[in-house]
Amino acid sequence: MDITLLGTGCPIANPDRYGAGNLIRAGEQTFLVDVGSGVTQRLLEAGANSAEIDALFITHMHSDHLVDLYQLLMSSFHQSRDVPHRIFGPPGIRKFTDGLMELWREEREMRIKHEKRASNAAFDLEVTEFEEGVIWDTGGVRVSAVRVEHAPIRHAFGFVFESGGQKVAFSGDTKYCDALIDAAQGADALIHEVFVHVDSMPLVGARTAAGRASVASYHTVSDQVGKVAAESKAKCLILNHFVPPSFDRDFLLDTVRADYAGPIIIGEDLMNFDIAKRRLTHRNGVIGY
Ligand SMILES: [Zn+2]
Ligand SMILES: [Zn+2]
Repeated sequence: MDITLLGTGCPIANPDRYGAGNLIRAGEQTFLVDVGSGVTQRLLEAGANSAEIDALFITHMHSDHLVDLYQLLMSSFHQSRDVPHRIFGPPGIRKFTDGLMELWREEREMRIKHEKRASNAAFDLEVTEFEEGVIWDTGGVRVSAVRVEHAPIRHAFGFVFESGGQKVAFSGDTKYCDALIDAAQGADALIHEVFVHVDSMPLVGARTAAGRASVASYHTVSDQVGKVAAESKAKCLILNHFVPPSFDRDFLLDTVRADYAGPIIIGEDLMNFDIAKRRLTHRNGVIGY
């Protein structure tokens, strides 16, 4: 499996960390997990495009995981996609996509009529609402949805990808979650969100202490995420979805290292992982981990 972190940020806009999104290549198939702000542009930077995505999996319906969906469809229209998009999301995703398509219907119909492209299939959606368990099992790739804990969001999921004897777990957005630890046992890579919790850290905007505590309460705090990796017996921990998007990397690394002895990677946008070779590529750097 080959994984690229497309966006490692959160709802706070940041030029270095775009909204949530991950590109997964497994065998002949290409998948996207979440489609946050800027993910469509990052796809191009990663050498992929939205015409080639076999399926899109949405972890939950917070906007930072979903806001670029229409741009993805539009982008794939311009990239000559000739098959419908398959979108898998939690309960409520169909209502969301129906509303989204209705919102842009007039503009889309005008564009289709005027541009006269070979295919309009990019705007055809095959939407599946899932609960838990295996949601994709095709061509040697199995994807399982794991219910995680992100209340007050009612339906939030992580995903486990298995292919070619490799296993990669995505946490989605969650606080410390036993179900995720069970599902991620022995994973070649655990890709996990983190709330970097330093009391003195400046935050963008006038967030109150109570507000910060609320946000922390539905994420995994930096002094817990190493425990998750250790208890999962994950062979590698890749941190992403940083809240806030600017933080002290040394502090985070030291905090997580206290609980987890394996490789810890502080994810950056466009980091690429060859899971079988245990090889990380970022810009001109190549690291065997
Ligand atoms: Zn969320
Ligand atoms: Zn999020």
